[in-house]
Amino acid sequence: MGAHSRKCDWCNSGTPIVRDMEPANLEYQYWCEECARALIIRGDPIETYRELDGEPIYGRLLEEHCTLKRFYSFATA
Ligand SMILES: [Zn+2]
Repeated sequence: MGAHSRKCDWCNSGTPIVRDMEPANLEYQYWCEECARALIIRGDPIETYRELDGEPIYGRLLEEHCTLKRFYSFATA
């Protein structure tokens, strides 16, 4: 597979932990944890994804930040 030798398509240095299965831009399919988190925070998370590490790292990021969002909407309501 060679996934372990691949670098993040965005920053070109991080180790990818998630792959966008339906990328808007074909040049950006593999994302490291930092860049994936930045996407979530920007409000543009990867919707169709595959975890590359055998661990739900991206799933956990999503969960983390969804909780945060819920907190924010509660706080400003
Ligand atoms: Zn990256």
